[in-house]
Amino acid sequence: MSVSSSSTTHRRFVLARRPQGLPVAADFEVVESGVPAARTGDVVVRHTHLGLAPAARIRMSEDVQGYLPPFAIGDTIYGAAVGLVVDSRHDDFTVGDVVVSINGGWQTHDVSDGSNLRPVDLDLAPAPTWLGVMGVSGLTAYVGLTDIGQVSAGDTVVVSAAAGAVGSTAVQFARAMGCRVVGVAGGPDKARHVLEVLGADACVDYKAPDLPRQLAAACPDGVDVYFDNVGGMVRDAVWPLMRQYGRIVVCGQIAEYNRADAVGSGPDWYPLLTRSLVVRGFLASRYQHRYDDFRARAAQWLQDGSVLPTEHVVPGFESTPEAFIGMLQGRNVGKTVVAI
Ligand code: NAP
Repeated sequence: MSVSSSSTTHRRFVLARRPQGLPVAADFEVVESGVPAARTGDVVVRHTHLGLAPAARIRMSEDVQGYLPPFAIGDTIYGAAVGLVVDSRHDDFTVGDVVVSINGGWQTHDVSDGSNLRPVDLDLAPAPTWLGVMGVSGLTAYVGLTDIGQVSAGDTVVVSAAAGAVGSTAVQFARAMGCRVVGVAGGPDKARHVLEVLGADACVDYKAPDLPRQLAAACPDGVDVYFDNVGGMVRDAVWPLMRQYGRIVVCGQIAEYNRADAVGSGPDWYPLLTRSLVVRGFLASRYQHRYDDFRARAAQWLQDGSVLPTEHVVPGFESTPEAFIGMLQGRNVGKTVVAI
């Protein structure tokens, strides 16, 4: 990885005000200071890549409904990052190590006690992939399919936001596990990508008219597992197709994140009873004990070519808010990564 060694300024994006609906650039501002030195037990990491995640939008609102606390005005925006150790007074880290941090944040540098850092193997995959398929997005897809969705070979698995970071990984992991996979994505170009590049068996464009009919045609035998990244009308269209003992993996509800009004009441719950469905939400951050298993299997799939990394890399630290807003609007294919 090429890194410049000249930076002595620590820059970070903080929340300047709470967004109303879709965020705008003025909701964020850059704060500058000197790069701190490591104290005993600390590591200073200079970030080279930032991974942008829709969850940051949830925390920009005051009411986050039981999730991590909302950001205060002036807080650094949260997110994973890859970087280089530039100062260390920690036994486990040496200057020059490349690490991934689960919460390095939208900043050029981070001071860590090491507990949020993991080593990166650049021989296995380049830095952006450690934020995507080999990073939090990959762990989320893996836990969602295995622990939560309990997928088996032969299951029909529907994945929404299928061209995005978690979705594109879930599509490929489910394929690698022997499932029949149907993606749902916004627009014909993304649907083609999910089909032709990610290898889904079918993909439906949710922006085209008649989503329920299209989904029913793509799932003639019904749906065993719905990996829900979006909520809203896509969930409502999948719901009637769920088979007996189906599982709905509630990973994300991005269709709701920018809504100012109250979240709707959701679909009819009667099929929960009649079809013995299980609906289960999860936070990947609570499944760190699954990391080693995930990492081993994902590395194997990357190496044998059954899974491809997909990243949407945007250059320049100053592009971070714009890249984030673009991701919320669907302007990404794969994991949105800012290369500093
Ligand atoms: P992403 O999918 O790379 O980017 C977000 C995508 O959401 C966009 O590309 C867009 O794709 C889609 N989208 C935006 N508005 C939508 C709407 N109204 N209806 C349908 N699709 C919409 O982001 P990600 O990081 O992989 O996250 C995906 C979901 O997983 C998010 O809900 C996120 O909060 C969740 N997540 C959960 C966990 C967890 O621990 N449970 C961890 C990571 C992420 P289109 O162009 O297809 O609309």
